[in-house]
Amino acid sequence: MFKKILVANRGEIALRIQRACRELGIKAVMVYSEADREAKYVKLAEEAVCIGPAPSALSYLNMPAIISAAEVTDAEAIHPGYGFLSENADFAERVEKSGFQFIGPTPESIRIMGDKVSAKQAMIKAGVPCVPGSEGELPDDPVQIRRIAKAVGYPVIIKAAGGGGGRGMRVVHTEAALVNAVAMTKAEAGAAFGNPAVYMEKFLQNPRHIEIQILADKHKNAVYLGERDCSMQRRHQKILEEAPAPGIPRKLIERVGERCVAACKKIGYRGAGTFEFLYEDGEFYFIEMNTRVQVEHPVTEMITGVDIVKTQIMVAAGERLPFTQRQIEIRGHAIECRVNAEDPYKFIPSPGRVTMWHAPGGPGVRVDSHVYTNYFVPPNYDSMVGKIIVHGDTREQAMARMRTALGETVVEGINTNIPLHRELMVDAKFMAGGTNIHYLEEWLDQHKR
Ligand code: ADP
Repeated sequence: MFKKILVANRGEIALRIQRACRELGIKAVMVYSEADREAKYVKLAEEAVCIGPAPSALSYLNMPAIISAAEVTDAEAIHPGYGFLSENADFAERVEKSGFQFIGPTPESIRIMGDKVSAKQAMIKAGVPCVPGSEGELPDDPVQIRRIAKAVGYPVIIKAAGGGGGRGMRVVHTEAALVNAVAMTKAEAGAAFGNPAVYMEKFLQNPRHIEIQILADKHKNAVYLGERDCSMQRRHQKILEEAPAPGIPRKLIERVGERCVAACKKIGYRGAGTFEFLYEDGEFYFIEMNTRVQVEHPVTEMITGVDIVKTQIMVAAGERLPFTQRQIEIRGHAIECRVNAEDPYKFIPSPGRVTMWHAPGGPGVRVDSHVYTNYFVPPNYDSMVGKIIVHGDTREQAMARMRTALGETVVEGINTNIPLHRELMVDAKFMAGGTNIHYLEEWLDQHKR
């Protein structure tokens, strides 16, 4: 096992990784930008290194600064968290070339999955069901583009091979709009992702977003840890997640989960990963794989009892997965609400000094947050300041616990989206379960204020 790990991230996930290290008896070296000097995990750290000024490009995305921080502190491995450099294959490669273990998959796996066209091709080969669409990248010839769209059937969605974060996608309803839409998406993709390649998929009208968590070791063992429902999204950003997904037959999940595990073994995947699917009319369609820990990993931890972050570290150190598929048992129901520093209905970011922070507690309640009273939320980064996670024997109990937890939470000095979560937890359709990816935006439209 490692003696010392460098945590190349910030915010709640930096604290989450620090906690996992402590439990494993590993020293965690924290890095921070000048804007994060006050962070709790920095104050609590045995060792912390400033890696640059506030802008991410100069700190959390600054590869040489991070690698030299690992060198000067004698760390053996680097945990990238999520976002920032976590899915950057060049970073993973530089980390390993510098003699450190990257806590995640190989650079090759990241590269294949980071390009959505090659990811989809790998999944088709491995027998994972995908959204019908173009075979790989779209050609330039308008005649061929029209022919492909006709075969796929309108509406279609044009997606950038290098896209991410809900950007680089365009829905096309008619042939008249097709060729222009492809050209525009290509131009945008080239500018935003440095890769103009685009592909086409059938646009599913009312799907749910269901994803499957997997863990794999370096000894060809892999397991899936059930699914999460992340359909509550605004502008393709998830705001609350739950596990299991209400109303989907277990047998179907098992079948898809087994395909995911088979795919991992086939590509030699190691570490934690998530297969994202759209689910419509009883069918699963793969859309992409994330090669890192996800924000919403706690709901899976709550229903399986598996510590995903600790397992990531253990398998990176070469250990075998400490459980088999048969030992993974799904128990009860978990919900996560992401707490964002923003106006709850207008979504304008609300950084600043938190004058009061009171976190909820009680049975089945977990709070992952780096915030404390008098903490200053810097304006430079993502607006998420924490996550409230609950677990109950049933979905009803989990919702009741979340209502109680949200009722106890006090945050003053900044705006948060907690009022929105409170309303969603008593919304009849959400409570019934199984809302699709458009539901939240429709709800927001109807509840404009
Ligand atoms: P990103 O990497 O940018 O998150 P994804 O491929 O995961 O991109 O897609 C993000 C979201 O876009 C999905 O959760 C879904 O809401 C929507 N989407 C993507 N592909 C399709 C599709 N074929 N049909 C309908 N919606 C889609």
